[in-house]
Amino acid sequence: MNSIRFDICPCCSCSDFIIWWNNRLPESLKGWKDFFYGGRRFIRDIISCRSCGYRFINSLTKDSEKWYSRQDIEVYRSMEQFRSRYFEDIKNDMLKRFNKTFPTDAAALDIACGDGLWLQLWHADMKLFGTEVSDNFKEILTKKDITILRDEELQPEQYDLVSMFDFLEHVEVPDSFLAHKWRLVKPGGFLIIGVPDMGKIAARILGSRYYLVCPMHYSYFDSLSLGKLLQKSCPDADIAIYPSPPLKTDLSGMIKWLGYKKPLPKVINIRLPVGYAASIIAVVKKQAAESKRRQINK
Ligand SMILES: [Zn+2]
Repeated sequence: MNSIRFDICPCCSCSDFIIWWNNRLPESLKGWKDFFYGGRRFIRDIISCRSCGYRFINSLTKDSEKWYSRQDIEVYRSMEQFRSRYFEDIKNDMLKRFNKTFPTDAAALDIACGDGLWLQLWHADMKLFGTEVSDNFKEILTKKDITILRDEELQPEQYDLVSMFDFLEHVEVPDSFLAHKWRLVKPGGFLIIGVPDMGKIAARILGSRYYLVCPMHYSYFDSLSLGKLLQKSCPDADIAIYPSPPLKTDLSGMIKWLGYKKPLPKVINIRLPVGYAASIIAVVKKQAAESKRRQINK
């Protein structure tokens, strides 16, 4: 086996690893769908931290940029109405749990904002900023009044709300990445993160056969490992982690999402009665400057 790409676990800092999935002859990726949905047969090795359960692909795909740039965004956009409702649920949940209102000059930043569905929900509340590497979304984002920023343009303590949905699991080194994004949050502001939940019963039973184990997901978290990662990477934080709302879809959306292109005849398309809550959501509040001072003076 290749050497392990982390000396210590990015989440809990221990160094007790075991091999969780090992495949001496992984198939090579032939298109973006293999990278996105291909499953374990395209993955050489997945390592698990014995202490917190964090898992990661050890031998990473070399041309990930290529596969992301070739993604067919129509598949992504076909899920728009369902993802939009999902984000609305998250927003309402967040406002209810944290009883938070934002000042009139507040700013929101969404990392890898895609077509801006999450940000547009905050249009009336805040100025909107996003990072997005795919050129496919630029026109849509400009229409939605979302300013696209490059990584080097991001300034510390500028944003009242920093978010990343379904992104952290794609990042090579999650702890340093998160620590950088945490610095962008204003004191008193929030970071909100959504990642696939590998602690779900289905994920635990199916193991490496679970549908979210795929070459593009470099990291696999559950609420324990995500909590450890946040404690380590986000100083002065109050952390809450809870199951995501369910994402509801219809049959044709589900089939497209699974990577099939052929349109489904309208007559047999049905709205699926139950959604699936595949993710965990972390809402992380950065202590306001005054409360930090009070704690130091105690
Ligand atoms: Zn660990």
